[in-house]
Amino acid sequence: MKKGIIAVLFVLIAVGVSNAQVTAIRAGRIVDPETGTVASNQIILIEGQDIKAIGANVAIPPGATVVDLSRETVIPGMMDAHAHLCMNTQHKRDGGRYYFTTLLDSNAKRAIQGAVNAKSMLEYGFTAVRDIGNEGNYACVEVRKMINSGEIDGPTFITAGRIIAPYGGQFALQPDKQNLAEPEYLFADTRDEMKKAIRQNLHYGATVIKLVIDDQRYIYSVDDIKFAIEEAHAAGAKLAAHAWTAAGALNAAKAGVDSIEHAVAITDEALAIAKQNKVAIVPIPFTERDAVLSGTPGGNRETNERWFIDPVRRAHKAGVMMVWGPDVIYNTLEFPRGKVSIDTVDEWKMTGIPNLVILQTLTTNAARLLGIERNRGWLKPGYRADIIAVRDNPLEKIETVKDVVFVMRNGKIYKQGK
Ligand SMILES: [Zn+2]
Repeated sequence: MKKGIIAVLFVLIAVGVSNAQVTAIRAGRIVDPETGTVASNQIILIEGQDIKAIGANVAIPPGATVVDLSRETVIPGMMDAHAHLCMNTQHKRDGGRYYFTTLLDSNAKRAIQGAVNAKSMLEYGFTAVRDIGNEGNYACVEVRKMINSGEIDGPTFITAGRIIAPYGGQFALQPDKQNLAEPEYLFADTRDEMKKAIRQNLHYGATVIKLVIDDQRYIYSVDDIKFAIEEAHAAGAKLAAHAWTAAGALNAAKAGVDSIEHAVAITDEALAIAKQNKVAIVPIPFTERDAVLSGTPGGNRETNERWFIDPVRRAHKAGVMMVWGPDVIYNTLEFPRGKVSIDTVDEWKMTGIPNLVILQTLTTNAARLLGIERNRGWLKPGYRADIIAVRDNPLEKIETVKDVVFVMRNGKIYKQGK
């Protein structure tokens, strides 16, 4: 009897295995972003959601779908660690100021924008995205649930829910309009309020916690931030800290947050502490496209030099892990969200840091910060098949990442050819 059951089980397992979709990719080149090594003429075998084998001599089983990328370079799917998919500021209406979306765009509209933007991110090669707040009343949480259930197309999606901040958040409120920061922020000044805000976010589906450290004169102390980290980590969520000032970045680095967002004014002292405490920084480029759309061509050049290029160079020198996260808050019909994000590779190129490091910000470093490094971010057996292809070798020509010709996530092809 027992033997019979075991035999049936074996048959079922065998049937299950052979029924999984098998895809074989013929890759002209595979670049490993961790080591910078390049392997030529490789076969990647994908079964179901996972990579099964990679190598020059991997046999392609009969019946497998064969994808010919023999003229392309294959890399792991890219990741954006600082996105706001459920918000779309309009340059004319809002003058680039994101808080108008709170007043003028309904939660329903923002969820639809999130779905559109999620699809766009995937099409441009982003197989994972960390959304870092400003998502209305948990609009992006709904987008994430629909991606996970397969109802809509999108990347692996990590969402912050409402941003936690000292009173006032990122707003300059009026006493007679105190609720204008709803529903973007949870004001939390005391420890009890911080704990409750974190738990409220987790309860409503946040998978990362975002703190704004320093957008008011009163900022979170090192101990405040440590307290929040402990609470977030206890629930398995990482903590991202928005820091626009030198003092805010220093407190965040000392407390040991998972990432400092923007870090525009970070000092060398804070970078050294960040390195020691394994804190990542997510720098924010200031682009010419944004300046043009705002009606001020050339208006971002100096800002980009001071707040992006300089901190990136110093962080690289200090050996601090950097992660891609351009903080895009707009898109137009002409410039979809995924395109606006990946086009900022031009600003990264201006920093002069090695192409390999830029590629790491988009892949391996991002996977570590997102906490998904155990099954995404690398191309290796057992990992999820999040695979993209570009025309050239990004180690030689990093801007090739703007031209993604193939996208697979979880073993499913979302883009093939132009
Ligand atoms: Zn942001």
